[in-house]
Amino acid sequence: MSSAEELVKLLSNLLQIDTSNPPGNESNAARFLRDWLSQRGVESEILEFEKGRGNLVSRIKGSGEGPSLLLLSHTDVVPADPARWRIPPFSGAVKDGYVWGRGALDMKSMVAVETMVFSEMVDRKLKGDLILLATADEEKGGSGIKHVLEKALDKITADYVINEGGGEGILAKKGWIFSIQTAERGVFWYRVRTKGSPAHGSIPGLGVNAIDRMRPLLNRVSEFKAASERVEPSWRYVESLLKMMGLVDEEAKIDNVEILLDRLTETDKGLGESAKAMLRVTMTPTMIQGGIKENVVPYECTLTVDCRVPPGYSGERVKRMIGDLFQGLEYELEFIQESDPTVSPVDTPLYRAIESTLLKQVPGARLEPTTMTGGTDSRYFRRMGIPAYGFQPLMVEGNYYDWSRMVHGDNERISIENLVFCYRVLKQVVESFMLK
Ligand SMILES: [Zn+2]
Repeated sequence: MSSAEELVKLLSNLLQIDTSNPPGNESNAARFLRDWLSQRGVESEILEFEKGRGNLVSRIKGSGEGPSLLLLSHTDVVPADPARWRIPPFSGAVKDGYVWGRGALDMKSMVAVETMVFSEMVDRKLKGDLILLATADEEKGGSGIKHVLEKALDKITADYVINEGGGEGILAKKGWIFSIQTAERGVFWYRVRTKGSPAHGSIPGLGVNAIDRMRPLLNRVSEFKAASERVEPSWRYVESLLKMMGLVDEEAKIDNVEILLDRLTETDKGLGESAKAMLRVTMTPTMIQGGIKENVVPYECTLTVDCRVPPGYSGERVKRMIGDLFQGLEYELEFIQESDPTVSPVDTPLYRAIESTLLKQVPGARLEPTTMTGGTDSRYFRRMGIPAYGFQPLMVEGNYYDWSRMVHGDNERISIENLVFCYRVLKQVVESFMLK
């Protein structure tokens, strides 16, 4: 079997293992990977944080002359509704040049690629340790990675991490532009509560309606629109993208960024909206609850907001911003999650290895660092001072809007061409960075 055929088979098999989270059942995927590796002479182990929820870990020892590298991935996927798919989501079907299934992009293709590259390094002369970690529960609580960090940190410690969250190439007017995720926005989920007093719903004047009191708060969140900030990483990426898309001249100095971002959105909604979210604070009302019965004036209402902030924002600054937003209104504020943005440096040997490998594979391409609008497990490593890069190299087919909606959406699939491209690039990155 050629390595491409082997890779397709590995991915197809992984996609057939239903690891929808909840409930996860990732140990089924971990056991499959353990057996697959063991057939190739690589030992690995499964670390479960609860029954059926296992992380797969393995390490190939290097000579110690160079840095170590962790290849990180997750085996769980978000649920899929078969009624909405053209091909059953857990069939792992190989059809028309594509491998189909939930997780084909996020991120079992990367699990397959990393596992394959890892297994091929077992007899090579590595300068540093190469570690493979495929976690459980990334899509929900992150219990998998937390378990490993708390209970088995020594098994996965590395100088560098490669993970998901970047690496997509866009074919713009003037050539390919690839991203590498070197930062993630901060996550500040909060809840605001308004209080009223109950009364019979038929005589509303006797009570105080908490839902009515929530209305101005909800309006302010919905109307909140932060300006784009020229923060790095991301700004350089967005600037390059605008230029390569032909929306602004190569030599031009950009001063009308909002207009250009709107124009980018008109060209490709996926690219435009992602670029905006990278450069801005966003506040999304995601849940609202109020009232207990049809005929009772509601005495409490809560609104949950998903607030994300680009690098440069601290928790203090976010709290001030929220205070300003709701100024003059009565409410109680509670944070559900507070995690600062995380950033990795770009002037590292691994970054340079990634860049030079990519440019060899795709001559004339550009690589620019980006901030992920959402979050991945990379943040845990960045907090420990370990550079982590989101780099799952893929060439986006068609427009970015349709492409990006396959992730967590319907009919998720990856072309065999892209799967092999991802493998070729990552293998070369590992070889150029790790081999003697
Ligand atoms: Zn993912």
